[in-house]
Amino acid sequence: MNIVLLGPPGAGKGTLAALLKNELGVPHISTGDIFRSNIKNGTELGRKVQGILASGGLVPDEVTIEMVRGRLGEDDTASGCILDGFPRTIAQAEALDEMASINAVINFVLDDEEVVKRLSGRRLAPSTGRIYHIVTNPPKQEGIDDETGEKLIQRDDDKPEAIRHRLEVYRKETAPLIDYYRGKGNIIDIDASPAPEAVLSAVVEALNG
Ligand code: AMP
Repeated sequence: MNIVLLGPPGAGKGTLAALLKNELGVPHISTGDIFRSNIKNGTELGRKVQGILASGGLVPDEVTIEMVRGRLGEDDTASGCILDGFPRTIAQAEALDEMASINAVINFVLDDEEVVKRLSGRRLAPSTGRIYHIVTNPPKQEGIDDETGEKLIQRDDDKPEAIRHRLEVYRKETAPLIDYYRGKGNIIDIDASPAPEAVLSAVVEALNG
């Protein structure tokens, strides 16, 4: 089963994907995570996209599409995957249609005010990507990952200027995908404002229903 997670930054796509992959037994593919891991490892791709990610802009379609094509060619996606953060433009969606058949598109609905609150309070464990929020999901000890004891970080693009830019980019480039998939009839709208477990139940129910 191939599932696309759509929605504004901060809607909880990454958190939900991490839960949903256990339910469905298919891998979670996050283009943002792949870019961040390339940046961390200092690869050529990482050096190319570092500034783009920090500013909250989009990596060019050709680069992103080829990266996803490579990832979807790996064996573990044979029975499907959860795509988180891809596609983000109509050109990417059209390319994806050529690569895989999409069973469902989950559209997470969240208003801008809540997006800003979530992103500005988000903190990450750098080695595992584990996500916290300083108010709604704090670590046991402030600023420290519960599992590894490492110092939590704030993503460069979770700072106010980049958040504003990411929301503009989302509205202009990514929101048109809602109509694109609505036209294909396989989109499911989910209220992203409740806690992750409640959102997961709503998604699982919608997928089974
Ligand atoms: P995310 O972790 O999904 O919020 O993605 C973080 C950043 O990675 C985005 O703000 C973009 O700079 C880049 N990125 C992730 N996915 C894509 C995509 N499908 N197309 C272009 N850029 C992307």
